[in-house]
Amino acid sequence: MSAHDDKLQQDTLAIRAGYQRTHENEHSEALFLTSSYLFENAEMAAKHFSNEVEGNVYSRYTNPTVRAFEERLAAMEEGEQAVATASGMAATLSVVMALLQSGDHIICSQDVFGSTRVMLNNYIIKFGVEVTYVALTDLSAWQQAIQPNTKMLFCETPSNPMSEIADLEALSAISKQAGALFVVDNCFCTPVLQKPLNWGADIVVHSATKYLDGQGRCLGGAVVGSHELMNKVVGFLRAAGPSMSPFNAWIFLKGLETLRIRMQAHSANAAELASWLNAHPMVTKVFYAGLEDHPGHQLAKKQQSDFGGVVSFCVEGGRTEAWRVLDSTKVISLTANLGDTKTTIVHPATTTHGRLSDEDRLQAGITDNLIRVAVGLEDIIDIKNDLKIGLELI
Ligand SMILES: *Cc1c(COP(=O)(O)O)cnc(C)c1O
Repeated sequence: MSAHDDKLQQDTLAIRAGYQRTHENEHSEALFLTSSYLFENAEMAAKHFSNEVEGNVYSRYTNPTVRAFEERLAAMEEGEQAVATASGMAATLSVVMALLQSGDHIICSQDVFGSTRVMLNNYIIKFGVEVTYVALTDLSAWQQAIQPNTKMLFCETPSNPMSEIADLEALSAISKQAGALFVVDNCFCTPVLQKPLNWGADIVVHSATKYLDGQGRCLGGAVVGSHELMNKVVGFLRAAGPSMSPFNAWIFLKGLETLRIRMQAHSANAAELASWLNAHPMVTKVFYAGLEDHPGHQLAKKQQSDFGGVVSFCVEGGRTEAWRVLDSTKVISLTANLGDTKTTIVHPATTTHGRLSDEDRLQAGITDNLIRVAVGLEDIIDIKNDLKIGLELI
C-alpha cells in the first residue's frame, strides 16, 4: 500500500500507511534490528554502492522499520517525504545544516524550545549564520527582520510554555515574499491537531520523543517536506549520522496508530484542567489557547483541530509558592518531559528556561510564579486534586 493512497482516510493511514509486509506474512510491523544488509554477489554490492540499484546498504542510510515510520508520518502530515532523526534536536540540526550556509540569516521565534536557541546561539552562528529572534505573534517584527540574506523563518506553535499561537498563513506569506524557507516545529500539536504544510510551511520538524511516542520511552525526531528539500536533509543525515534507531522507529510507528485518540484525550483533559485553574482563587493567570479569552484562541481554532495537552499558569506569589505546588504533588511527575500518558509538572524559570538570561526569560513571559503542566491521560479528577493540595497551601 502506498503512503499517499489518498483514497484512505487519516485514521486508516495512521494505522496502515507505509508498511510493506515481509515474506513471513506478519500481521504487526516487524522490527529490523540490523546494522547492515547482504548483497547477492560482488556486482550487486558495487551497484548498491554506486546507487545504480536501490536497496538497503547500512542502517545509517536506510532501515525498513525506520522507512515505515517515515512513510506513515509523511502520510499523516500530508507531506511528500519524512526523514527520521535520532532526536528532535537532530531534526532541527539537520534542517539547518542541510539548507543554510555561511552568510545566510535565520529568523526564529524567541520562545522556541530552549535547546533550539542554545544550538543556534552557541554553534550555528560559529559557521557564519546570522540569527534574529522575534516575538512569535508580532507579524510586523517578522517582516522588519527580513534581510537580503534571510533564508529561513523558524517557529514553534503553540509556544512553550505560554501557548502563544503563530499565524502560519501570514508567516508563510512573509517567507515566500523573502524567498526564504518556512520551518515549523509541530511537536506540541502533532499532525493530528495541525498540519503546517497545508498552511504554507515548507518544512515540519518533530520531536517524536513527545506525543508521537506518547509514553516517554525513547528519543527520536523527524523532518517532513518536499522530496527536493528532504533529499538535502537525507544527504546530511547519511554523512553526519544522527539517524533514528530501528527500535525507536518501531515504537514511534506503533505510537502513530493511537495518536489521534490520545491527542483528543490529552486535549479534553487539558481543557478541563485549564477552566478549573482559571476559576481557582490562588491562580492569577492561565495560558491555554482553548480558553476563549486567550489572545490566540481564534487563530488556534482556525489552524488546529483542538488545543493540545499543555497548560501553564501563574500562582499568587513567586518562586516559593510555585515550588510549593510542585512539591505537594503526589500523582503528577515532576519532570521536564511532556507528551506522555503520565501528567508532568515543571517550573520553567528554574529548569527548562533556566539557561536564558533574566532579560530573555522575562521577555518570553517566564515569571517565577509560572508552572507548566503537560496533561496526561489519567482521570482528570486526580490531577485536579493533586494540584489542589499545593494551591491550598499558598
Ligand atoms: C523536546 C522538544 C524538542 C527537542 O526534541 P528532543 O527529542 O528532546 O531532541 C524540540 N522542540 C520542541 C517543541 C520540544 O518540545
